[in-house]
Amino acid sequence: MKDFTWERAPFSVCAVCEKKTFGFLRAGGHTLTMRCSSCRHTENIALPWLDKKVIYLDQFVFSLLFNVVSGGRLPIGHEVFAKELHERLRRLVLLQQIILPHSNIHRDETTVFHSAMELQEAYEFIGGDVSLSDTSTVELEQALDAADAYMNGTPLSLNLSADEILESERNEWLSDMHISVRSNYSQFADGLRKIRDETHGEMEKLAARWAAEKPNFDDVLKMELDAVLVGKVV
Ligand SMILES: [Zn+2]
Repeated sequence: MKDFTWERAPFSVCAVCEKKTFGFLRAGGHTLTMRCSSCRHTENIALPWLDKKVIYLDQFVFSLLFNVVSGGRLPIGHEVFAKELHERLRRLVLLQQIILPHSNIHRDETTVFHSAMELQEAYEFIGGDVSLSDTSTVELEQALDAADAYMNGTPLSLNLSADEILESERNEWLSDMHISVRSNYSQFADGLRKIRDETHGEMEKLAARWAAEKPNFDDVLKMELDAVLVGKVV
């Protein structure tokens, strides 16, 4: 049996020791590394530049893709579509053409799912393991930009580029190894369900009130500001 080596096929002739043991060691980021398993001669090769497109998938689509991978139940009449969608998206991710970032919205919605950890691992893996900044951070940044513009009397110009809120580099090559950490968020599931139900209830009340009173924007703004200011004074 052949001894274990970190280097993998294809093997070619090493420029130093001339044995046919010069193989693939690792790739990822911006570099591919080849190494000889006999003399350890190493060569780093720069990988070509990339320009990956960013596609944001709804949680529903991630659940669908998860069911394809895990052999779960697919929507009747859409089985072929689901499988083909998974194949094409995965292919585009592996060809380094797209990333499918995940966010805290996915994570919160996943926590109440029956196979939460498996689904989370699946969407990290399927999408190329890139995440977006927390929505509360993005909101705060935008609010600060708006406050800045207001104070300076300048028009508000928000930078809506995806790169602004990606937690890792958009244009790195995927690593040939995928390492995942199992984070169990199930302890938050009950709390999230409660918040979701409460928010839904509050929104229903608000929608009913707006439908009945039909307030204009200035009225709503005044109401909101009064609520904030009262909160501050107390
Ligand atoms: Zn060698």
